[in-house]
Amino acid sequence: MLITRDAEYQFFSIGTKTYKCYCVTYKDKAVLIDTGASVDRSTIESNLEKDFIFDIDAIIVTHSHGDSAGNAEYFSMLYNCPVYCVKTSIELVKHGVSRLPPKDHPYMKKVGSAASLMLKLPSFIPYEGCQNVQPLTKDVVEELLGKDAQLLMTPGHTEDSISIAIRDVALIGDCAQFKRRVLAPIFVDNESQMAASWESLIRLKCKYYLSGHGRPWNADDWLNQKEYKDEVDEDAVDFEEETPDTKEPDSKEDESKS
Ligand SMILES: [Zn+2]
Repeated sequence: MLITRDAEYQFFSIGTKTYKCYCVTYKDKAVLIDTGASVDRSTIESNLEKDFIFDIDAIIVTHSHGDSAGNAEYFSMLYNCPVYCVKTSIELVKHGVSRLPPKDHPYMKKVGSAASLMLKLPSFIPYEGCQNVQPLTKDVVEELLGKDAQLLMTPGHTEDSISIAIRDVALIGDCAQFKRRVLAPIFVDNESQMAASWESLIRLKCKYYLSGHGRPWNADDWLNQKEYKDEVDEDAVDFEEETPDTKEPDSKEDESKS
Protein backbone atom coordinates (compact mmCIF):
# COMPACT_ATOMS: atom_id res chain seq x y z
CA MET A 1 0.00 0.00 0.00
CA LEU A 2 1.38 3.38 -1.01
CA ILE A 3 2.05 5.63 2.00
CA THR A 4 3.46 8.68 0.26
CA ARG A 5 5.30 9.70 -2.87
CA ASP A 6 7.02 12.64 -4.47
CA ALA A 7 8.55 13.14 -7.90
CA GLU A 8 11.38 10.67 -7.22
CA TYR A 9 10.41 8.44 -4.33
CA GLN A 10 7.56 6.15 -3.46
CA PHE A 11 7.14 4.59 -0.01
CA PHE A 12 5.05 1.46 0.33
CA SER A 13 3.97 -0.40 3.45
CA ILE A 14 4.19 -4.07 2.53
CA GLY A 15 4.24 -5.75 5.94
CA THR A 16 1.38 -7.12 7.98
CA LYS A 17 -0.72 -5.75 10.79
CA THR A 18 1.79 -6.93 13.36
CA TYR A 19 5.17 -6.71 11.66
CA LYS A 20 5.72 -3.78 9.37
CA CYS A 21 8.23 -3.53 6.56
CA TYR A 22 8.52 -1.10 3.69
CA CYS A 23 9.58 -0.78 0.09
CA VAL A 24 11.15 2.42 -1.21
CA THR A 25 11.40 3.03 -4.92
CA TYR A 26 13.86 5.59 -6.25
CA LYS A 27 14.39 6.09 -9.98
CA ASP A 28 14.62 2.54 -11.36
CA LYS A 29 15.45 0.89 -8.02
CA ALA A 30 13.30 -0.78 -5.39
CA VAL A 31 14.73 -1.33 -1.92
CA LEU A 32 13.10 -3.43 0.76
CA ILE A 33 13.56 -1.99 4.24
CA ASP A 34 13.22 -4.87 6.70
CA THR A 35 11.70 -8.18 5.75
CA GLY A 36 9.15 -9.01 8.45
CA ALA A 37 8.81 -12.23 10.41
CA SER A 38 8.99 -15.57 8.59
CA VAL A 39 5.38 -16.36 9.57
CA ASP A 40 4.30 -13.42 7.39
CA ARG A 41 6.39 -14.34 4.34
CA SER A 42 3.60 -15.17 1.88
CA THR A 43 1.56 -12.11 2.87
CA ILE A 44 4.55 -9.81 2.33
CA GLU A 45 5.23 -11.40 -1.05
CA SER A 46 1.63 -10.92 -2.16
CA ASN A 47 1.62 -7.34 -0.79
CA LEU A 48 4.62 -6.56 -3.01
CA GLU A 49 2.77 -7.94 -6.01
CA LYS A 50 -0.37 -6.00 -5.14
CA ASP A 51 1.70 -2.81 -5.40
CA PHE A 52 3.19 -4.01 -8.71
CA ILE A 53 6.61 -4.47 -7.18
CA PHE A 54 7.98 -7.54 -8.91
CA ASP A 55 11.66 -6.94 -8.48
CA ILE A 56 13.79 -5.84 -5.55
CA ASP A 57 17.33 -4.54 -6.08
CA ALA A 58 18.52 -4.61 -2.47
CA ILE A 59 17.37 -5.32 1.05
CA ILE A 60 18.32 -3.25 4.09
CA VAL A 61 17.64 -4.57 7.57
CA THR A 62 17.40 -2.03 10.37
CA HIS A 63 18.66 -4.47 13.03
CA SER A 64 19.25 -8.15 13.58
CA HIS A 65 15.99 -9.22 15.25
CA GLY A 66 13.90 -11.94 13.64
CA ASP A 67 11.01 -9.66 12.73
CA SER A 68 13.37 -7.41 10.73
CA ALA A 69 15.66 -9.99 9.17
CA GLY A 70 13.37 -13.04 9.35
CA ASN A 71 12.78 -13.18 5.60
CA ALA A 72 16.09 -11.68 4.49
CA GLU A 73 17.42 -14.97 3.11
CA TYR A 74 14.14 -15.83 1.38
CA PHE A 75 13.76 -12.48 -0.41
CA SER A 76 17.47 -12.27 -1.14
CA MET A 77 17.24 -15.63 -2.96
CA LEU A 78 13.91 -14.80 -4.60
CA TYR A 79 15.09 -11.49 -6.03
CA ASN A 80 18.76 -12.43 -6.32
CA CYS A 81 19.82 -9.34 -4.44
CA PRO A 82 22.17 -8.50 -1.55
CA VAL A 83 21.12 -7.84 2.03
CA TYR A 84 22.76 -4.90 3.76
CA CYS A 85 23.13 -4.35 7.48
CA VAL A 86 25.62 -2.58 9.71
CA LYS A 87 28.85 -4.40 10.51
CA THR A 88 27.76 -5.31 14.03
CA SER A 89 24.68 -7.10 12.63
CA ILE A 90 26.44 -9.12 9.94
CA GLU A 91 27.35 -12.25 11.90
CA LEU A 92 23.94 -12.29 13.61
CA VAL A 93 22.00 -11.97 10.33
CA LYS A 94 24.28 -14.51 8.66
CA HIS A 95 23.42 -17.07 11.31
CA GLY A 96 19.83 -16.04 12.01
CA VAL A 97 20.51 -15.13 15.60
CA SER A 98 18.18 -12.88 17.55
CA ARG A 99 20.29 -11.91 20.52
CA LEU A 100 18.29 -12.70 23.64
CA PRO A 101 18.18 -10.16 26.42
CA PRO A 102 19.63 -11.73 29.58
CA LYS A 103 17.24 -12.42 32.46
CA ASP A 104 18.90 -9.79 34.62
CA HIS A 105 18.52 -7.12 31.94
CA PRO A 106 16.67 -4.09 33.41
CA TYR A 107 13.96 -4.26 30.75
CA MET A 108 13.37 -7.97 31.32
CA LYS A 109 13.04 -7.30 35.04
CA LYS A 110 10.39 -4.67 34.30
CA VAL A 111 8.53 -7.02 31.97
CA GLY A 112 8.45 -9.56 34.81
CA SER A 113 6.16 -12.49 34.19
CA ALA A 114 5.62 -11.51 30.55
CA ALA A 115 9.31 -12.18 29.81
CA SER A 116 8.86 -15.83 28.91
CA LEU A 117 6.09 -14.90 26.47
CA MET A 118 8.19 -12.12 25.01
CA LEU A 119 11.11 -14.45 24.28
CA LYS A 120 8.84 -16.64 22.14
CA LEU A 121 7.95 -13.75 19.84
CA PRO A 122 9.38 -13.78 16.28
CA SER A 123 11.65 -10.89 17.29
CA PHE A 124 13.70 -13.14 19.54
CA ILE A 125 13.53 -16.66 18.10
CA PRO A 126 16.17 -17.95 15.63
CA TYR A 127 15.50 -17.36 11.94
CA GLU A 128 16.88 -18.49 8.59
CA GLY A 129 20.45 -17.24 8.27
CA CYS A 130 21.27 -15.08 5.30
CA GLN A 131 24.28 -15.80 3.07
CA ASN A 132 24.43 -12.73 0.85
CA VAL A 133 24.87 -10.17 3.60
CA GLN A 134 27.05 -7.12 3.08
CA PRO A 135 28.04 -4.08 5.17
CA LEU A 136 25.68 -1.14 5.07
CA THR A 137 27.49 2.17 4.73
CA LYS A 138 26.54 5.76 3.91
CA ASP A 139 27.86 5.18 0.38
CA VAL A 140 25.66 2.12 -0.10
CA VAL A 141 22.61 4.05 1.09
CA GLU A 142 23.43 6.91 -1.26
CA GLU A 143 24.07 4.56 -4.16
CA LEU A 144 20.73 2.80 -3.65
CA LEU A 145 18.51 5.66 -2.57
CA GLY A 146 20.18 8.86 -3.74
CA LYS A 147 21.97 11.78 -2.12
CA ASP A 148 18.95 12.75 -0.01
CA ALA A 149 19.03 9.44 1.86
CA GLN A 150 20.83 9.48 5.21
CA LEU A 151 21.99 6.52 7.23
CA LEU A 152 21.49 7.21 10.95
CA MET A 153 22.83 5.14 13.81
CA THR A 154 19.90 4.96 16.23
CA PRO A 155 20.84 2.45 18.95
CA GLY A 156 18.69 1.82 22.00
CA HIS A 157 16.25 -0.88 20.94
CA THR A 158 19.37 -2.83 20.06
CA GLU A 159 22.99 -1.80 19.79
CA ASP A 160 22.86 -2.36 16.02
CA SER A 161 19.66 -0.39 15.23
CA ILE A 162 19.77 2.05 12.33
CA SER A 163 17.30 4.37 10.65
CA ILE A 164 17.16 5.79 7.16
CA ALA A 165 15.85 9.29 6.55
CA ILE A 166 14.82 10.45 3.09
CA ARG A 167 13.42 13.97 2.81
CA ASP A 168 10.30 14.01 5.02
CA VAL A 169 10.22 10.28 5.68
CA ALA A 170 12.21 8.34 8.28
CA LEU A 171 12.28 4.55 8.34
CA ILE A 172 13.12 3.77 11.94
CA GLY A 173 12.78 0.01 12.40
CA ASP A 174 12.03 -0.79 16.03
CA CYS A 175 13.26 2.49 17.51
CA ALA A 176 9.71 3.21 18.65
CA GLN A 177 6.09 2.68 17.88
CA PHE A 178 3.27 5.14 18.37
CA LYS A 179 0.74 3.64 20.64
CA ARG A 180 -2.22 5.32 22.29
CA ARG A 181 -0.84 8.78 21.59
CA VAL A 182 2.49 7.92 23.17
CA LEU A 183 5.75 7.20 21.48
CA ALA A 184 6.49 3.89 23.12
CA PRO A 185 9.65 1.84 23.06
CA ILE A 186 9.25 -1.75 21.93
CA PHE A 187 12.13 -3.41 23.67
CA VAL A 188 14.79 -1.25 25.24
CA ASP A 189 18.30 -2.59 25.38
CA ASN A 190 19.78 0.74 26.45
CA GLU A 191 17.53 3.53 27.72
CA SER A 192 19.96 6.41 27.43
CA GLN A 193 20.92 5.43 23.88
CA MET A 194 17.25 5.17 23.01
CA ALA A 195 16.48 8.64 24.38
CA ALA A 196 19.36 10.10 22.35
CA SER A 197 18.17 8.28 19.23
CA TRP A 198 14.62 9.58 19.66
CA GLU A 199 15.94 13.11 20.04
CA SER A 200 18.01 12.86 16.88
CA LEU A 201 15.09 11.41 14.95
CA ILE A 202 12.59 14.02 16.10
CA ARG A 203 14.97 16.82 15.15
CA LEU A 204 14.40 15.73 11.54
CA LYS A 205 10.75 16.88 11.89
CA CYS A 206 9.57 14.26 9.45
CA LYS A 207 6.06 14.04 8.16
CA TYR A 208 6.21 10.26 8.26
CA TYR A 209 8.05 8.10 10.75
CA LEU A 210 7.66 4.52 9.61
CA SER A 211 8.16 1.99 12.42
CA GLY A 212 8.51 -1.76 12.50
CA HIS A 213 5.31 -1.85 14.55
CA GLY A 214 2.26 0.38 14.66
CA ARG A 215 1.01 3.17 12.47
CA PRO A 216 3.01 5.90 10.73
CA TRP A 217 3.42 8.96 12.97
CA ASN A 218 4.75 12.48 12.59
CA ALA A 219 6.66 15.14 14.50
CA ASP A 220 3.40 16.66 15.84
CA ASP A 221 2.47 13.31 17.36
CA TRP A 222 5.73 13.52 19.30
CA LEU A 223 5.11 17.08 20.47
CA ASN A 224 1.48 16.46 21.41
CA GLN A 225 1.90 13.08 23.01
CA LYS A 226 0.77 12.28 26.48
CA GLU A 227 3.55 12.11 28.97
CA TYR A 228 5.41 8.85 28.55
CA LYS A 229 5.20 6.86 31.72
CA ASP A 230 8.22 4.76 32.37
CA GLU A 231 6.35 1.63 33.20
CA VAL A 232 6.03 -1.70 31.50
CA ASP A 233 3.07 -3.97 31.76
CA GLU A 234 1.68 -6.89 29.77
CA ASP A 235 0.61 -4.40 27.15
CA ALA A 236 4.23 -3.50 26.42
CA VAL A 237 4.76 -6.84 24.74
CA ASP A 238 1.33 -6.98 23.11
CA PHE A 239 2.41 -6.58 19.51
CA GLU A 240 -1.05 -7.66 18.32
CA GLU A 241 -2.71 -4.41 19.33
CA GLU A 242 -2.66 -2.36 16.18
CA THR A 243 -4.39 0.37 14.32
CA PRO A 244 -5.48 -0.06 10.70
CA ASP A 245 -2.85 0.23 7.98
CA THR A 246 -4.82 2.88 6.22
CA LYS A 247 -4.62 5.36 9.04
CA GLU A 248 -3.03 8.72 8.33
CA PRO A 249 -0.42 10.06 10.76
CA ASP A 250 -2.51 13.07 11.72
CA SER A 251 -5.68 11.06 12.32
CA LYS A 252 -7.48 11.74 15.57
CA GLU A 253 -8.78 8.20 15.80
CA ASP A 254 -6.23 7.36 18.46
CA GLU A 255 -7.99 9.71 20.87
CA SER A 256 -10.82 7.27 21.36
CA LYS A 257 -8.49 4.61 22.68
CA SER A 258 -7.07 6.43 25.61
ZN1 LIG B 1 13.49 -5.51 17.10
